[in-house]
Amino acid sequence: MDFDYDLFVIGGGSGGVRAARVAASKSGTRIGIAEESRYGGTCVIRGCVPKKLMVFASSYAPAMRQAVSYGWDVSTGAFDWPAFQINLEKELDRLEAVYRKLLKNSDVETFDLRATVTGPHEVCLADGRKLTSKIILIATGGVPSIPLIEGAEHVITSNEIFHLKKLPKRILIVGGGYIACEFAGILNGFGVDTHLWYRGPKVLRGFDEEARDVITQGMKERGVIITTETETTKIDKIEGGFVVADISGVEHTFDLVMYATGRRPNTQDLGLEEININLDGPGAVEVNNYSQTPIASVYAIGDVTDRVNLTPVAIREAMAFVETAFNGNPTPVDHSQIPSAVFTQPEYGMIGLSEDEAQKREPIEVYTTNFRPMNTAFIDEPNKVLMKLIVSQATRRVLGCHIVADGAGEMIQMAGIAVKMGATKEDFDKVCAVHPTMSEELVTMKSPIRKA
Ligand code: NDP
Repeated sequence: MDFDYDLFVIGGGSGGVRAARVAASKSGTRIGIAEESRYGGTCVIRGCVPKKLMVFASSYAPAMRQAVSYGWDVSTGAFDWPAFQINLEKELDRLEAVYRKLLKNSDVETFDLRATVTGPHEVCLADGRKLTSKIILIATGGVPSIPLIEGAEHVITSNEIFHLKKLPKRILIVGGGYIACEFAGILNGFGVDTHLWYRGPKVLRGFDEEARDVITQGMKERGVIITTETETTKIDKIEGGFVVADISGVEHTFDLVMYATGRRPNTQDLGLEEININLDGPGAVEVNNYSQTPIASVYAIGDVTDRVNLTPVAIREAMAFVETAFNGNPTPVDHSQIPSAVFTQPEYGMIGLSEDEAQKREPIEVYTTNFRPMNTAFIDEPNKVLMKLIVSQATRRVLGCHIVADGAGEMIQMAGIAVKMGATKEDFDKVCAVHPTMSEELVTMKSPIRKA
């Protein structure tokens, strides 16, 4: 059968664009891609990139206080949100243009429209056009998920935070995961009176307990007001703000309420179930190790599959998909030991197991050090650093590495290479320290703080 395309990708985010470009590099392939919003997807347009730029912007107040302690004559002044937004928009426009250009230069045909799946080899564009493709790749990502509470229509999510006309004076952020904690730090850094409500006992569930403690303490010391074991029961709009009732019925007033209560796969009305592709409870596309659905011509990668929801993972899944579907080289994606960072203030980088996870598996040694970094020697700024290694007693391999520090994301990328290679504690110790740095502690921790 003759198809219009060899590959049609639905979703122009990091994963979809990478798959389209790499597949297009194979000569003679005809590739199409449909995107209903902006190319670049969550990461570039409403996620990692604008968030990180906001992290940078929000960290200047402590940097300026530090500068004063070193003898500089600076005063902080006020943060100009509209000025930041103009530069942010310019940068996002630039990045989107780069994505479009990459697709154009790869001869990928782009459709700035929503597309749905209407058959194992057929997609339908929002303008009614039907196109056929030998392979269809679903890369539609995820969308914020807001629980059903009274007044939920009044809240914003991380999608809207970048487009605020002005910064609120007082914000409530609901949730205790990546997005809630990162934006609590950002808004607090901008001088917003920032309150975070989390339903559990401690934020960042699933991460290493000790790291969670240091981050929570650091966030609080910087000014974020964290309330745990609470939930929102009702949100009412009032003149100029919102009244939010907590779990005890006590009412609080905020200018803005942001929900960061997780994301769900973006599969609603995509037509997948109609062609017998299973979706799990929250809507994730079920795929095998090769990102293939039970319908052999349909694959899915990235957050829409709800495996490991990180941009670099989606990109790897895209590359593996092209190897599998176009190069005759079935390639699964290795989802183990993925280093990642949470851009909280303080920042957190980690790879491998938390102490709890590791000790459930085997006897371990824990090496940890907690100290005040040198750059705050002249000023009493909250900036506690944690370096932690979790080591297998039997094999001596480093099973987990956790860093809470300025630049932890950068450090964990490097430490991640060693951990992924299977380095032992003794391999770490063989490496000479780089002095004076914070990360030198990773190779100088001599005795375990505990065994478990
Ligand atoms: P997370 O899953 O990380 O966190 C969701 C939070 O919302 C949890 O604290 C959860 O509580 C809470 N929650 C869930 N449902 C409810 C509810 N009904 N009422 C109250 N609280 C609720 O999701 P995020 O939205 O923060 O982030 C989504 C994903 O995006 C992440 O999993 C991550 O993969 C990715 N991401 C990665 C970043 C990075 O790499 N730096 C940055 C931002 C996002 P509980 O813990 O009790 O379940």
